[in-house]
Amino acid sequence: MTSGREIREKYIRNYPSAFCPGCGDGMVLNALSRAVENKQLDKNKITAVSGIGCAAWIPSPYWRVDTLHTTHGRAIPHALGVKVGNRDLEVVVVGGDGDCAGIGGNHLIHAARSNLGITVLMINNGLYAMTGGQAGPTTDHGETTLTSPFGNPSAGLEVAEVVKAAGASHVARWTTYHMRELIKEIEHAFSTDGFSFIEILSQCPTRSGKKEGLSGVDMLEWYRDNTSKDPDSDKIFVGRLADIKKAKLSNEIYKQIRECGGELR
Ligand code: SF4
Repeated sequence: MTSGREIREKYIRNYPSAFCPGCGDGMVLNALSRAVENKQLDKNKITAVSGIGCAAWIPSPYWRVDTLHTTHGRAIPHALGVKVGNRDLEVVVVGGDGDCAGIGGNHLIHAARSNLGITVLMINNGLYAMTGGQAGPTTDHGETTLTSPFGNPSAGLEVAEVVKAAGASHVARWTTYHMRELIKEIEHAFSTDGFSFIEILSQCPTRSGKKEGLSGVDMLEWYRDNTSKDPDSDKIFVGRLADIKKAKLSNEIYKQIRECGGELR
């Protein structure tokens, strides 16, 4: 098995970390790199696309693949352009819940509906972390944040369920506590011939943990104690929500390009 040091040297750029101590984002970077190594993918044929937010830093600047750092919420349409432009590329979008489900929510729903052949990792820390901890689309009802000091009056969006309902081929939810399962799920996403979406519940000790007096480790233990692989449990479900075969958007577009006499790279 490839050692952690080899993974680091091969996949991770040696820049000073912008992530706070105890943040889950570095763990996701590690899981993503390990999944690529396990699948023996050619990292020269991977393009990672991100928008704005702490999670957007996971690929750019830290992941040692080609990256496209775009505007807030617009990673998915840029990823569509990359995938249609070069069908040989493995295209991965990495973003936070605010980026993917708030500003970019409409793009997410329609990419799932069209079954675009890309992988999206949505790191869900339950608020807008980079801008100071404001309530976001996934903030739970009653949760206090910078902009909801008396408790969030609205309900949090169940993003994985929405993506499943929109028609994605592959949908799953894990947490940073479930690293082994998460690595396997990312490997499965790379094998999926369609839109893959993995929601990763991830700790933000700075914006979320600190106000509750919780460290990063405390938050990992919370994920351990409050999630379940049993869909009938009252706890947060972790596991696979969808795994279906269906036509994917990029193939349909390639077909039409051919029919019009166009050439594919
Ligand atoms: S603010 Fe939160 S999500 Fe952003 S780097 Fe710090 S701990 Fe991570």
